[in-house]
Amino acid sequence: MLHRFYLGFNRLTTQSAQLNNIAATAARWFSKVTAVTTVGLSVLALTLGSGVQAQTQTINLYTTREPGLMKPLLEAFTTQTGIKVATVFLKDGLLERVKAEGVSSPADVLMAVDIGNLLDLYESKLFQTINSEVLNTAIPAPLRSSDSTWFAFSLRDRVLYADKSLKLESFRYEDLASPAYKGKVCIRSGQHPYNNALIASMIAHRGVAQTEQWLRGIKANLARKAAGGDRDVARDILGGICDLGLANAYYAGQMKTAAIGTDARKWGDAIQVIRPTFAQTGGTFVNISGAGVAAHAPNKAGAIAFLEYLISPPAQNLYARVNFEYPVRQGVALDPIVESFGLLTADLTPLSDIAKHRKEASLLVDRLGFDR
Ligand code: FE
Repeated sequence: MLHRFYLGFNRLTTQSAQLNNIAATAARWFSKVTAVTTVGLSVLALTLGSGVQAQTQTINLYTTREPGLMKPLLEAFTTQTGIKVATVFLKDGLLERVKAEGVSSPADVLMAVDIGNLLDLYESKLFQTINSEVLNTAIPAPLRSSDSTWFAFSLRDRVLYADKSLKLESFRYEDLASPAYKGKVCIRSGQHPYNNALIASMIAHRGVAQTEQWLRGIKANLARKAAGGDRDVARDILGGICDLGLANAYYAGQMKTAAIGTDARKWGDAIQVIRPTFAQTGGTFVNISGAGVAAHAPNKAGAIAFLEYLISPPAQNLYARVNFEYPVRQGVALDPIVESFGLLTADLTPLSDIAKHRKEASLLVDRLGFDR
């Protein structure tokens, strides 16, 4: 119940209480930052003596995250700690690259969105176990690996975008297959990690046979090929191509706050956001973004300092405000636009259980020709 409780807590706490809470946690955090900086400096001093200066002043971050979110986080981290971050943005192929680099990989931190991508890195043994009280205290156990290799830093709920004229109080993921929506559904590829994880989750709840029925129903309802991105669901609702579809909530936050007159803002203004639930659990599907220290990190101390920064209140606030995600840390305020989507009751099925069904989900999508 912990997960449900603290998500509810985020939503229900009043604004002023949240601000007080942030001030208090920030005060505690600053003492931790001092400690982190001291560690960084003492490592620096040691390593200067051994003549490997560059490695201790910089960490190498390999990330699939969009630069727009990362930039403010990285700048703030460097200001706090003096440690520079050299970033390699990889839209695809993070796993392959780190694998190919092997023991000589310069990567210190590996960061990815989606539990599947994180587990791929984990199963290839590309993370190392670290021991951080800061991370273990701030991140609830279901949101980090039991062997302290990867850690979640934000939550991402997969929601319904619907035409504003649709009268919908609530929605279940199962409803997307209802004949009532024939020719009205838009969605991206069933093989995209966001949908793969959702389908894997449905398999975890209902088994392969019922999930296959569900997917066939959605396929029969599609207004267009399952392709494009999450924002295209809103674009195509505005364009009259479809009435509803699934997409991640933070894109709605981005679009609804985009500059007036831009396409993004028009798409965002065309939709209402509803948090669907699974019929069996009453919870909404939530994925994560996360990171861990690379197995062969040249600067392990710097990498840990970076992860500890990411869970700090100021960094968690950036996750909420810059990217409209749910912070993992308790007591960090949501962005008002995300708050306006209503209370998030997260499905409590452990992500590691869901991820076991990734392969079956992918095979199912192929077998059905969902993307054709
Ligand atoms: Fe995304």
